[in-house]
Formats: sequence, structure tokens, C-alpha cells
Amino acid sequence: MSDDTVTPMMAQYLEIKAQHPGAILFYRMGDFYEMFFEDAALAAEALDIALTKRGKHKGEDIAMCGVPIHAAEGYLLTLIRKGFRVAIAEQMEDPAEAKKRGSKSVVRREVVRLVTPGTLTEDSLLEARRHNFLCAFAEIRDEAALAWADISTGEFSVTPCPLPRLLPELARLAPRELLVADERPLDWIEEVGCALTPLARASFDSASAEKRLCTLFGVGTLDSFGNFTRPELSAMGALVDYLDLTQRGKLPLLRPPVREVAGGTVQIDAATRRNLEITQALTGGREGSLLSAVDRTVTAPGARLLERRLSSPSRDLGLIHNRLAAVSWLTDEPRLREDLRASLRRVPDMDRALSRLALDRAGPRDMAAIRAGLTQAEAIAGRMPADAPSLLAETLEALRGHENLVELLDQALVAEPPLLARDGGFIAPGFDGDLDETRRLRDEGRGVIASMQAGFIETTGIQSLKIKHNNVLGYFIEVTSTHAEKMLSPPLSESFIHRQTTAGQVRFTTVALSELETRILNAGNRALELEKMHFAALRTAILDQAGAIGRAARALAEVDLIAAFADLAVAEDWTEPQVDDSRAFAIEAGRHPVVERALRRTGTPFVANDCDLSKAETPAVWLITGPNMAGKSTFLRQNALIALLAQAGSFVPARRAHIGLVSQIFSRVGASDDLARGRSTFMVEMVETAAILNQADDRALVILDEIGRGTATWDGLSIAWATLEHLHDTNRCRALFATHYHEMTALAGKLTGVENATVSVKEWQGEVIFLHEVRRGAADRSYGVQVARLAGLPASVIERARTVLDALESGERESGPRRRALIDDLPLFRAAPPPPAPAAPPKASQVEERLRAIQPDDLSPREALKLLYDLRALL
Ligand code: ADP
Repeated sequence: MSDDTVTPMMAQYLEIKAQHPGAILFYRMGDFYEMFFEDAALAAEALDIALTKRGKHKGEDIAMCGVPIHAAEGYLLTLIRKGFRVAIAEQMEDPAEAKKRGSKSVVRREVVRLVTPGTLTEDSLLEARRHNFLCAFAEIRDEAALAWADISTGEFSVTPCPLPRLLPELARLAPRELLVADERPLDWIEEVGCALTPLARASFDSASAEKRLCTLFGVGTLDSFGNFTRPELSAMGALVDYLDLTQRGKLPLLRPPVREVAGGTVQIDAATRRNLEITQALTGGREGSLLSAVDRTVTAPGARLLERRLSSPSRDLGLIHNRLAAVSWLTDEPRLREDLRASLRRVPDMDRALSRLALDRAGPRDMAAIRAGLTQAEAIAGRMPADAPSLLAETLEALRGHENLVELLDQALVAEPPLLARDGGFIAPGFDGDLDETRRLRDEGRGVIASMQAGFIETTGIQSLKIKHNNVLGYFIEVTSTHAEKMLSPPLSESFIHRQTTAGQVRFTTVALSELETRILNAGNRALELEKMHFAALRTAILDQAGAIGRAARALAEVDLIAAFADLAVAEDWTEPQVDDSRAFAIEAGRHPVVERALRRTGTPFVANDCDLSKAETPAVWLITGPNMAGKSTFLRQNALIALLAQAGSFVPARRAHIGLVSQIFSRVGASDDLARGRSTFMVEMVETAAILNQADDRALVILDEIGRGTATWDGLSIAWATLEHLHDTNRCRALFATHYHEMTALAGKLTGVENATVSVKEWQGEVIFLHEVRRGAADRSYGVQVARLAGLPASVIERARTVLDALESGERESGPRRRALIDDLPLFRAAPPPPAPAAPPKASQVEERLRAIQPDDLSPREALKLLYDLRALL
């Protein structure tokens, strides 16, 4: 073979690879998926497996690595998590077939699936309690839309989405993959936080989109699903086109698209989601988030529904009331609640099983999941009393009526079927007589032979006759030579066919024996074939009911969530909130669900606090002062979380809560560490604050924590001041504003909607004791020095700080009129007046005087160095 010859297999490999340039190609070879060339190098490193060589291509060694089929899912998961996409090329025929075509012929292979982060269906690749959304963003002229689907559950939605709404929507959905038109500038790529897949413009064509969608749902027109705009069609079409591409024509069971309109849910932007730690803690995990603190669901679909509700609390009063009524009713029915939850614990993830069945990627266990889920659905429906509130009563229709399918699956499947259909053994005995017989032959071949042998002994009268087996003859009848003549003459010779004569024995067969032999040999294969046939038939039977099964699964998730909220409310002593369209915000004895839980572990009680923003005339702002560590942030957040929980349909951690519908929740923390995004922290703080001031409407709930902290004192105070004024005068919303700028407390006297509140502390023998009690009024001082001591700063530093503080405070008192003037002049975005000159220690002020006198721009490096020495000498 000359150096530049390409083997037929390599030719095939390269051809397939060329069709999937952006993916690692898993090329099936027997019991392995193998990777070659560049792919091999990348995969070997990512998977930490050996990189070897296999043959030569154009004179060069071919790099290769491989993973065994049975462990492939684990490796796939690693690659997907590391951001790769994988094309899986399977052998499409038996290697024997290829051989028949000639010795050089290669087994036919095709890519059967492109695995990407947004298109996973296997349980081992998915997180059970989280959605796996694939999003598509489409723009047509100045209109835009976002479509999203979870192919593992069939959920499919679309919403109008102007570009500025894109990041907040992505923060809400937390998709794994986003599809965009490839000509779109991707300057916001780093913000998206998921895999970004550019698609050709053709995928986004809205006219072909309509056709694609009609084909997918088998309808002539989309009208019955709603009226979609061009960008919406385009986004949905691109998504379906991508599914077609990655699933190789096997389309998943998507439900007809649901059109979400803006205004249906509480608007919460990405920064607020992060700050409030709704579904993810700041540390990155689920632990420590609101979601993990309130999650008492017992099924994976229930957990996913909870995540959706918390991510998108409702603004529909009717819906909120229905949800709360159902939760409330179940809190009063402890027995029923426990019964329901006991049943629900036995409900598997039917959505995901159904999706695998549709994509022909399922095993018998997925069918058993459908059986178990539907069985429990009937049981739950049976327990639901007639007087259940509407939301629960409405689930009954979906939960009932599955008897026929359950009965079929019950008869067909064994109790605990294996994961894979490949090895058989999942069809129950008694379901198919032919299969039972075939299995009996396979398993009891020896027994059948023995009874045949007994029959032959009876017909021939030869007691020593035996049926034996060897690899050359297969099964045969053997008699000693002494009986040869009898066997070889009529009537026995008519049925016994001579096969072989050896030293002392003569061997025969009969038609019945060779038939039996073939049947035994084939029984194993035939049993598998029969099981496969039943599998296909059962799959069809299930998919015929896909719509009804999906509805049952959704009803079960809803019941799970209601029961979980009720369980939580009882266990944690939560209260039903009163939600209406007033402008109230009155929380009595509110608590922070996450902090309370964390404190409980240390045995510390949580101090409940009231919050009342229900001023008759809007707006209503509480300005909260108090030392660090007093509990300001906790108080701010707990109130936002209480509003969020209430509108998500949950009871709330408070003694009483009256909440006028909230349209938007905003939460910002001053100077959060956002260096990772490469902007100065202060810049981030200002950009985020600007977003609130520009967007908050008069139904918004805004919490601002130490805004302005990220810059010099006077700048910071001015910004905080002006922000509060803007919220009060222009946004006119309900707001909680925490600050350590005591100067701001004067605003309460100036602005009618602003009230002061403070978190109390007690000073005892020079030490500060945090009471964590929020009360109306302004804090008298900030206790920063005491807090520093608590934090373990050296005694000398604390001592020095106290001296400086005393000096500063007396200086401040002396310059009283000046301070008044400052307050009256604010807002101060222009030149801020210098701080009142403190009566600071003498040496420090000499240094300051020298510093103040210099013009840094006029100094040469040499002069600057000299100045440094001079300053040093002053100390
Ligand atoms: P601040 O924002 O005033 O600096 P935080 O809200 O961060 O203070 O609270 C500091 C710590 O005090 C919290 O981590 C928590 O352990 C505790 N804490 C806060 N609020 C309460 C409360 N209401 N009851 C009991 N402990 C609290």
C-alpha cells in the first residue's frame, strides 16, 4: 500500500466527519466508539483516557482513542459538560452483510444523533429536578422573539422578546443552549452563560418555520395554537429545525407551543435573581438558595414545576388565589396530604420516559415508569374528595381514564424490567403463549431433550439409547453397536436417520430431533425477536396516548407542588398571604426562609420583623440604617422573598402578610464583587441602579442595599441620595433602602413617602450586641468600630480607630451648620463639598497638607519619589 492510500474505512470516516465539522465524531467500531485525528487528541485530554495510534493516513500515524459502548454515557456527559458537541455514528448493518458485498467493503455507518447541551434526553445526562431548556432567539427588523423547549419533557413556549429583555429572560430560563442567527454580532456572548450555537439564516426563515411547525404537529395551520408574530414563528422554526438536525429526523414529542405574553409574570432581572439567590446561591450551587429551602416536592416533575414557579411568579390575581386556596385546603387535611404524598413518592418521571419513547431511545424501564405513574394517577384521583378546591378538582380529569393502558402494561411487563430492551427478559410470562414456549425451549432445552429421549427409548425398546450433543453433529441419538441392526432396519429405519458410525457406537437423528435442535438454538434469538416485537407494539400503544399521559404527568406535578407547599407551610408555620390589587405591603413578623434555616442548625433563633410600606398615598420607602452585621440585608431580602413566594402561590414565612400585587422585583447590592466580568465594581453598581431607575413602575418592589458604597464617601452619599429621591418622586414604587449614610435619615422629613427604620443594637460594656430588631426611627450611630473588634482586628488598630472616630465626631458636631447646608443642597451629582475637616491627629494633618498642595500632573517621577521620602519623614 503506498503512503497516500486512504483505506476504505478511513475514507468513510473522513466523509462522515466532514459533514459534522463542529462536533467530536464517535465512530462506532464493534463494542467501542472510536475517535481519530484531532478529535482523538481533544477527547483523550478532556476524558483523561489514553491516546494511541491506529494505522497510517497519508504516511502519518493516525491518533486514536476509544470508549467502550457500555460506558459511553458517562464519557458523553463529561464531553458535553466541557462544552463539546458529539456526533454519534452507528453501524447501520451487520458486519456480515458488509462482508457479503466483498472483502474490501466497509460496514455502512451513519450519524444517528448529534448530542448537544440543549438536546439531552438520557437520565444519566440530565439533572432530574431541573429543566434542560434549548432556546432560540430570532429578530425580524425591530421585532424579536425567544422560543424555548425542553425536549426531555416536551415543554415548548415562545414569547415576544425585544433585545433588552433577552438577558433577563435567559436568566429566568437558565437554558443550556441558545440558538442565534449566525450573522448576529455576538458581543453579549459572555453574558449568556450557556452554549451558544449560531445557525444559518435559512433556519430562521419564518415562512419555512410555519411549514415545519405544521408538519411537526400534523396540522394544516397553526391558527388553533394562537396567533404568532413573524419573529415568534422564526424562533420556533429555528428550534424545530435544529432538533431535526440533531435528532436526525426523529422529532421529539413537543407539545403545541404556549405563547407567553409579557405582563403575565413578575419581571425579575438577572442581577435581582442573583442577589435574591432564588434558584441558585451566590456560591453557584442550589444549596443555600430559596429553591432548596422551600423544596418539599417528592417527584422530579414537581421539583421542576417549583423551579418554574419561583422563577416566574404570577401577576394573575385569579391564578394566585386559586393556587393559595388549594394549598390552604391541603394544610387542613393532614391525612389526605400524607396519603397523596405517599402515592406521589411512587410516581416516576413520566415526561422524560415519554420523550425517550418518542425518540426511540427508551428501554423497558421507561414503560414501567409510565405504568407506575398512571397507576398512581388513578390512585390519587380516587383519594381526591369531591369538595376539593378547583385547582385540585381540575386535575381529576387528567388523572383518570388510563385503565386500559395500565392493564395492558401490567399484563405485558414484568414487575421490575431491565434498563435495556437489548437483552430481553421484560415481557411477563403469560402475555404471549408463543413467547412462553420459546423461552421454555431456551431455558429448559435439556428437559425437553430428556423427555424426547424417554420417548425414543419407549419406541425402540433400547434402554441404553441416549441423546447427546457435540459441536460437529449438534444433537444426535446414540446407541451401542449391538443395537445397530435393529435401528437400521424397518420400521425403526423409517424414522431414525443414520448419521455416523464410530468404534462402539452408531449415531442417528430424527426429523423431530433436528427440528427441536433448530428450535432450541433459535429459541434464544426468537425470544429476543418476540420481545422486540412486543416492545414496538407497546411503544406504539403508549405513544398513541402521549397527549393524555403528558396531561396526567402535569396534573401529578401540580398536585405534588400543592401538597409540598402545604407540607412546608405546616412544618415551618407559614401563613397564607392576602394578595390583592391594593398597594399594600404589610408584613407582620416576617422571616428570611434561608437565613432562618441556617441559624436553626446553630440553634440561634431568628428574630422576626415587621415591614409596612402601606402608606395610603404612594410611594412608600423605608430607609433603613444601622451598623453592619445588624441584619439589614437579611431584612431587605426577606421582604422581597415573601412577595415572590406569595405570588408563586406559596404560603409565606410571616405571622401575617398583606401584599398588593407586585409587578417587578428589583434588588441591588452596592459594590458587589463582579470583577470576573471585567468592569469596575462601582460601574456595575451604577449600571444596575440605572436599570432600576429607568424601568421600575409604580407596582415595583425595589430593595437597595448600600447603593453608593463602591465609591468615595461623598460621591456615594450623593448618589444614594439622588437615587432615593428618584425612586420616590419618579418611580413612585414601594422600596426598602438600606444605607450606612446617616445623613440620609434627614430625607424622611423632606419626602412624604419616606420613613426611617433601624436595626437595633445594644451597647454593653463597650461591646455591641445585635438584637436584629427592626424598628421605626433612625439609628443613632454606626458601631463600625465595635463590629471591627468583633471581626478580630488587632486591639491597637481598634484603639487607634476609636481615637480617630472621636475626633471626627466632635469635628462633625462643630461643623453643624455646614452639615445642614449639605443636606439641603443635595442631590449632589455636581461637585460635592469637601467633608467637614475633622480635628484629626496633628501628624496626619501635616501629611495631608503637603499632599493637598501638590499637583501630581506637574511632578516628574524624580520629584514624586522625593515627595514620598519627605512625606514619610513627617510620620
Ligand atoms: P447587614 O446587612 O446589616 O450587614 P446581615 O443582614 O448581613 O447584616 O446580617 C448579618 C448576620 O446577622 C446574618 O448572617 C445572620 O446570621 C444574622 N441575622 C440577620 N438578621 C437576623 C434576624 N432577624 N434574626 C437573627 N439573626 C439575624
